[in-house]
Amino acid sequence: MTIKPIYRRVLLKASGEALMGTQGFGIDVSVADQIASDIAEAKELGVDVGVVIGGGNIFRGVAVASKGGDRVTGDHMGMLGTVINSLALRTSLVKLGVDAVVLSAIAMPEICESFSQRQATAYMDAGKVVIFAGGTGNPFFTTDSAAALRAAEIGADALFKGTQVDGVYSADPKKEKDAVRFARISHEEVLHRGLAIMDATAIALARENNIPIIVYSIHEKGGFGAILKGGGHCTVVAEQ
Ligand code: UDP
Repeated sequence: MTIKPIYRRVLLKASGEALMGTQGFGIDVSVADQIASDIAEAKELGVDVGVVIGGGNIFRGVAVASKGGDRVTGDHMGMLGTVINSLALRTSLVKLGVDAVVLSAIAMPEICESFSQRQATAYMDAGKVVIFAGGTGNPFFTTDSAAALRAAEIGADALFKGTQVDGVYSADPKKEKDAVRFARISHEEVLHRGLAIMDATAIALARENNIPIIVYSIHEKGGFGAILKGGGHCTVVAEQ
């Protein structure tokens, strides 16, 4: 019996730090391969997958600004880091035989195609995994916001936020043993309680576009597919 996934089209956001694995910097190829294998499983279920990768494992603009440098230049460096990560994930997907394309918010035609909403949806309709590189293409934004933006643009039914823990907790579960995981919580409450699962811009954008955010552990192999099949461990951020 074929299992019908609960979402038809999703946007997966993975941070750059997730790609780093246990290393202090850069990309752990085994982590990229694991994320790629989870995406391959989603594709086998018939789900359209778009991906936004962060760049925190390579560079953050605020790091330049904190040392007296120019924030905009720092953010440009951060956005370029997301392109490196996107190329790494595409490489892992191609190894598994998954058709994937990188579309960048910053034009670099020798390396990858430029983003346009029309091209992105055309590729997704054709069954390709689309990796959105370069964040929003603008400084002072984050790849969380890029993920919410691209999710709205491609008409995603859900925004999957792959994190280090398996959902949204009342407090940091690594620091407080009594912290409880929410099964479901509203965008409003996440903002109100200041729960740091994504930045406020991203959560507000998802709320305005009625996109649920599924917070789950990116490190749990098969976790993505399990949720798409209606099970798994996660918190659903959606209006009640
Ligand atoms: N960035 C940016 N505009 C965007 C997305 C990212 O300027 O639309 C820059 C910013 O400097 C950020 C860095 O790229 O710190 C890496 O992105 P992010 O911090 O979101 O990565 P993550 O935390 O997900 O690894």
